[in-house]
Amino acid sequence: MAYDTQNIFAKILRGEAEAYTVYENDDCLAFLDVMPQADGHTLVLPRSPAENLFELEDRHLAGLLRTVQHVARGVRKAFNPDGIKLMQFNGEAAGQTVFHLHVHIVPCYRDRPSRGHGRDMAQAEVLEQHAEKIRTALNQI
Ligand code: AMP
Repeated sequence: MAYDTQNIFAKILRGEAEAYTVYENDDCLAFLDVMPQADGHTLVLPRSPAENLFELEDRHLAGLLRTVQHVARGVRKAFNPDGIKLMQFNGEAAGQTVFHLHVHIVPCYRDRPSRGHGRDMAQAEVLEQHAEKIRTALNQI
């Protein structure tokens, strides 16, 4: 399947749609998932137009993983979870719903299960507060 330049993450990357951005660099953009499985659930995307992991050029792989590690450190510092889960889906059968490669960073807690995948839209004010918390944490790293 050819990369669809009208997918929502492509629009966010071009600045045509809003996002709760927490971090960006030359390789990647990171913003909050609007239907978070836990508070602070963040997505990291390569800027490169790859639909999935298999389409990402080798030269962008290291930048993506480095950014995921950096942003995950910020999420951990901001929310102090018991653990952090990374997820990345390739293809509809695997659960992918937005067809621009992205890695989920999901805080996890011993005493409560994560919320469902892409189920409940969070409130805008809450998302903005959480994004600010992560931005602040990243500035201290
Ligand atoms: P996936 O199943 O890995 O393709 O997940 C796509 C994720 O993107 C889901 O968790 C959605 O909640 C999330 N999502 C969809 N639209 C947006 C958006 N406009 N901004 C932020 N996250 C989004």
